[in-house]
Amino acid sequence: MAEDRLARYRAIRDFEATPEPAGAPGPPPEGSSRFVVQEHHATSLHWDLRLERGGTLASWAVPKGIPVDPATNHLAVRTEDHPLEYLVFAGEIPGGNYGAGRMGVWDHGSYELVKWTEREVMVVLHGERVSGRYVLFRTGGTQWMIHRMDPPEDPGRQRFPGWGAFAPMLAEPGPMPDAADLERYAFEVDWGGVRAFAHVEGGRIGVRVPGRDGEQIRLLPELRALGASLGATEVVLDGDLVVVGAGGRPDTARLADRLTPRSDAAARRLARAAPVTYLIVDVLWVEGRPLMDLAYDERRRRLEDLGLSGPAWQVPPSHPGEGPALAAAAAAQGLPGVIAKERASRYRAGPAGSAWISVRTSPPA
Ligand code: MN
Repeated sequence: MAEDRLARYRAIRDFEATPEPAGAPGPPPEGSSRFVVQEHHATSLHWDLRLERGGTLASWAVPKGIPVDPATNHLAVRTEDHPLEYLVFAGEIPGGNYGAGRMGVWDHGSYELVKWTEREVMVVLHGERVSGRYVLFRTGGTQWMIHRMDPPEDPGRQRFPGWGAFAPMLAEPGPMPDAADLERYAFEVDWGGVRAFAHVEGGRIGVRVPGRDGEQIRLLPELRALGASLGATEVVLDGDLVVVGAGGRPDTARLADRLTPRSDAAARRLARAAPVTYLIVDVLWVEGRPLMDLAYDERRRRLEDLGLSGPAWQVPPSHPGEGPALAAAAAAQGLPGVIAKERASRYRAGPAGSAWISVRTSPPA
């Protein structure tokens, strides 16, 4: 009975306090095979896959989302059946309630049933974002795995090649381009921070500081929310870490302290006392495709399309042609300079020659 299968769903919720549906009694629609994937920003971001079955929604919580590639299986934890009304539920579950956090519909559609047993569920999903044959198989208790059986929907999609494939393009010191050349360049403030790459996949972020071993995200817990904000979108970002100090200027000593190895508890304490801001200036990879061969202007457009803005990350503006004005503004704020980036240039590791020029605001002391 569908009603019995909702007993646990109802037992752990207070429908006076949560906007979630209690579920209406009544016979299930016949021959209907709908599914929904919800993106659930709970304590830990996950995606909930729900398949209509016998009047309720069989549900799995998938921490890394629906896999796009048969090479990578994802953990899926069987959760309580949900009422059919949940197929369209989106909203904020208030703090203190079960599953508190924002829930949105990530995809929905219908599915074809291939096989359904206690240990194995095979379906063909027909959604807007995800289509193809998937199998869920039980590995023990509530633990299942979800595997994509079809090739990736995007045949050109590549797997993240690892940090070794990403090395910074480096601006070389030089003069402000001539007035006749200014329009060939876009200008960004040089914040004098520490260069850092970020890789986000399945809402999880890793941060790599070139020249240092390993990921630094353990030391920078305030950037985990950047990963969650990207949801299922996979990216590699390039930018500068800064700690904003007195007068709004980057404080290099406090930033160095933030990158000094310490315990997780101490890192969390420092994240509140001396928060970092990640100033994102480039995007090098999106959804399994490298972007390094695109021109700066095109990468910049792709970066702005991501709409990244949050408490600990920003995309500072880029100013085509406006080098002298930006340099004057940077000098007035005591910032180290501006970087001129040739708008037609590709992203190349190492010294950039005249493609990226570091223009100092004041002569070296
Ligand atoms: Mn959930």
